[in-house]
Amino acid sequence: MTEQLDLVVIGGGPGGYVAALRAAQLGMKVAVVEKRDALGGTCLNEGCIPSKALLDSSEYFALARDSFKRHGILIDPPRLDLAQMMKRKDEVVVRLTRGIASLFKKHDIRLVNGTGRLVKGEGTPQVAIATANGEQMLVGKRVLLATGSSAAAIPGLVFDGDRIGHARHALAYDRVPEHLVVIGGGYIGLELGSVWLRLGAKVTVVEMLDTLLPNTDQEVARTLIKSLEKQGMTILPGTRVAKTEVSGTGVKLTLEGTSSQSLACDRLLVAAGRRPCTDGLGLEEAGITLDPQGRITVDQDYQTSCANVYAVGDLTPGPMLAHKAMDEAVVCVERLHGKRPELDYALIPGVVYTQPEAASVGRTEEQLSADGIVYTTGKFPFMASGRAKALDETEGFVKVLAAPESGRILGVHILGPRASELIAEAVAVMAFSGSIEDVAAIMHAHPTLAEAFREATLGARGQAVHL
Ligand SMILES: Cc1cc2nc3c(=O)[nH]c(=O)nc-3n(C[C@H](O)[C@H](O)[C@H](O)COP(=O)(O)OP(=O)(O)OC[C@H]3O[C@@H](n4cnc5c(N)ncnc54)[C@H](O)[C@@H]3O)c2cc1C
Repeated sequence: MTEQLDLVVIGGGPGGYVAALRAAQLGMKVAVVEKRDALGGTCLNEGCIPSKALLDSSEYFALARDSFKRHGILIDPPRLDLAQMMKRKDEVVVRLTRGIASLFKKHDIRLVNGTGRLVKGEGTPQVAIATANGEQMLVGKRVLLATGSSAAAIPGLVFDGDRIGHARHALAYDRVPEHLVVIGGGYIGLELGSVWLRLGAKVTVVEMLDTLLPNTDQEVARTLIKSLEKQGMTILPGTRVAKTEVSGTGVKLTLEGTSSQSLACDRLLVAAGRRPCTDGLGLEEAGITLDPQGRITVDQDYQTSCANVYAVGDLTPGPMLAHKAMDEAVVCVERLHGKRPELDYALIPGVVYTQPEAASVGRTEEQLSADGIVYTTGKFPFMASGRAKALDETEGFVKVLAAPESGRILGVHILGPRASELIAEAVAVMAFSGSIEDVAAIMHAHPTLAEAFREATLGARGQAVHL
């Protein structure tokens, strides 16, 4: 049976489900093909949301163990109920994925559970779906590909989900590892490493590059690494895994480079990047071109090299982030509807949800220097913030980079408490081409962490009040 729709979306993650909802709001007849049982993609099921649920729970555990006493709260040493922690995480995920399913019902979006692939039709693209009840066809005036990404494997290391796993496995370990080795010092490795470190595991992060978080402001990255090391994490930059031996109880690793040594661990987490999910999508038959990294190339309308076939999210070039996928989805669908919105790729915020958190937007000092752009810096440490002192979370700083004459803000880099929330103000100001003078003139509630942003902008002109 074939059915004519305005838009068929393959993939129900942040790119796909947001596109479907916005298209339905604009009056389009929409179907979404999703091979998982639940909507929400990597983000809701095995990414952003479950990782933050565990980061929050493990932070409470570590606070109760390490910090309550300082606040004058005396308790018996807290004990870990890992099964309950995982149950709460799963409940958060289920509530959110069901929420999307009910939004689909509200907007009359058809959901087809199965694996979709493009089929070259006469003019209009078609989608063949392998379902539990056989193959089904959908015909859409347009098709949007939003199949996302999956964990990249390392040659020679086979994921068994037990001793060797990726993020999904590390979000569901049934016991605290004795020694967790994480391959990859990106944000996923540092966040999941932090979860298990706080819960009592010995954690070693092995990173091939000489620096961690290479696209992050390096002063932020260095200070964060020092803080994680102080918390007990071992970080080995400039080091690669040369050999692995898997046994019944764990994995033995031979490391080469800056920290040549042998290590044994009971759990190995591979967090060495993600690759776009393009296999079996019928791209070659449809004449859809990929870039050298295997990502689908698109034009300003998010149209692929095949007419009426579009792509957004992790499948396409740019940072693999949920907010990038969601915003691309909205812009893509609105452009299909005749509107002309545009995404500013220079203003995609990035966050690392460690303790302290790191968040940034815009250019780093390294990028500005490499491009020969002159800039002025304003920096305010959380040590001088009343709110941070009250919270007893004084690590880190806000750093603002601005054009010396106009004061226009070029980049904001925050390491500290709730940096993930604070960065929104910086994005908003930069989106309106704001300057340090603009921020300095805005009243900020006292005492708040946000005052540190204002103080950093004042500091760029040597006028910080509390420093
Ligand atoms: C541990 C972890 C933590 C993360 N934390 C953050 C974070 O804090 N903030 C952030 O912004 N990003 C985070 N991310 C990244 C974020 O999850 C992704 O950038 C985002 O999910 C990409 O959205 P997407 O819609 O492009 O793809 P996905 O979310 O991957 O969704 C794609 C969907 O398509 C489905 N699919 C694939 N192929 C087919 C097919 N042929 N037919 C039918 N369905 C198909 C998949 O089952 C999946 O549900 C994290 C990722 C991980 C792994």
